[in-house]
Amino acid sequence: MNDKEKLEIYDVIIIGAGIAGLSAALYSARQKLNTLVISKDLGGQLNLTQLIENYPAISADTGIGLASKVESQAKKFGAKFIYGEEVSAIEKKDSLFIVRGIKDEYFAKSVILAFGKSPRELKVPGENELKGKGVSYCAICDAAFFKDVPAAVVGEGDPGLEAIDLLGKYAKPAYYISRSLQLAGEPDLVNSVMNNKNIIPLLGYTVEAIEGNSKVEGIKIRNIKTNEEKEIKVEGIIIEMGYLLNTTFLKGLVKLNEKGEVIIDDLAKTSMDGIFAAGDITQIPYKQAVVAAADGVKAALSAYNYIRSLQGLPPVTVDWKAEKKKTVISFRL
Ligand SMILES: Cc1cc2nc3c(=O)[nH]c(=O)nc-3n(C[C@H](O)[C@H](O)[C@H](O)COP(=O)(O)OP(=O)(O)OC[C@H]3O[C@@H](n4cnc5c(N)ncnc54)[C@H](O)[C@@H]3O)c2cc1C
Repeated sequence: MNDKEKLEIYDVIIIGAGIAGLSAALYSARQKLNTLVISKDLGGQLNLTQLIENYPAISADTGIGLASKVESQAKKFGAKFIYGEEVSAIEKKDSLFIVRGIKDEYFAKSVILAFGKSPRELKVPGENELKGKGVSYCAICDAAFFKDVPAAVVGEGDPGLEAIDLLGKYAKPAYYISRSLQLAGEPDLVNSVMNNKNIIPLLGYTVEAIEGNSKVEGIKIRNIKTNEEKEIKVEGIIIEMGYLLNTTFLKGLVKLNEKGEVIIDDLAKTSMDGIFAAGDITQIPYKQAVVAAADGVKAALSAYNYIRSLQGLPPVTVDWKAEKKKTVISFRL
C-alpha cells in the first residue's frame, strides 16, 4: 500500500469479508460511501461448508461461490478490499476511527464489525485435510448431506445433543461421541436422543483421528478410562465443540455480552456511535448466512445514516409510514 492510500479516510471500514461484511460492502458502496473491506480471507465460514442449499434464490452453490458473487457485486459499486490483514485494535480519535491491523493502520468515519467466529476445532490428524469433505462444524447446515450413510457427531451438552438429534434423522447409524459419561442436557432433548434407535451413543470417548483420502472414511476413537482405541466407519463427522469469538480487543470500545458477542440494536448499532456490527459476531440468534447478510445490509444503511448525520443531514428512511409527517427521502434500493 502506498502513502496516499494509507492516509485515505474512508466513510466506512468493514472488518471481515464473510457474508455479513460482503453484503454490508455491497450496500455501503451502492450508497456511494467510500468503502474499504479489511479481512483475513474471503468468505469466512462459508469456506467450511460443502454446499449452500438454503440461501434464497440460490438453488445450490459452494460457500466460496456465493461469497465471490457478492464480492463482485460490491466491487462493481466501488468497494475496495484488502485481504490477508488481521485487525487487532480499534481506537477512536476525535471523530475518526483508527483501525489497526497487523500490517498497517486505516482511517474511517465509521466502522462495521463483521468478523464472525470460527468453530472450535478438534485439532486431530485428518481434520484439516478433510474439512468440507465430510468434516463439518454445523449440524443444521450439513446433517442432511449424510442421509442413509453412517456419520457421527462429536460434542458436549445441549449443542452436541441438538446436533445428534438432527443427524439421527438422517444418518444410519448416527454415532454420538462425547467425553461425558452420560447424556446430560435439556430433558426433552435427552429423551429424543435416547428414544431414537438410529443413534448409537459412545460416551466417555474422544476422537483421536479422522481418516480418509479424498473424503472421510472413518474415525479413530479412544475410551478415556481404558485408553482402548477403536475405528468406526463413517462418511461424515460433525464437530460441535462450540465456537471461538475473537472480540477481546473490543472490550471497552463496544458492549459485549457474556459470550463475547457484540450487542447490537434493531438497526445494527453497537453501544459506540459510529460503530455497527453484523453477522455471527453479534448476539443475534439463528447464525445462518442469510441472517448475517440481512444484518450486514442493516449495518451499511445505518452507517450511511450516521455519515449523513456527521454532515448535518437528516436520516433517510425506508419506513415511510412511521415517518409520514416528515419529508421522506427513500433509499435508492
Ligand atoms: C460448516 C458450516 C456450514 C455452514 N453451512 C451453512 C449453510 O448451509 N447455510 C447457512 O445459511 N449457513 C451456514 N453456515 C453458517 C454461516 O456460514 C454463517 O452464519 C455465516 O457465514 C456467518 O457469516 P459472517 O460474515 O458473520 O462471519 P464469518 O463467515 O465468520 O466471516 C468473518 C470474516 O472475518 C474475517 N476475520 C476474522 N477475524 C478478523 C480480524 N481480526 N481481522 C480481519 N478479518 C477478520 C474472517 O477471515 C472472515 O472472512 C455454516 C457454518 C459452518 C461452520
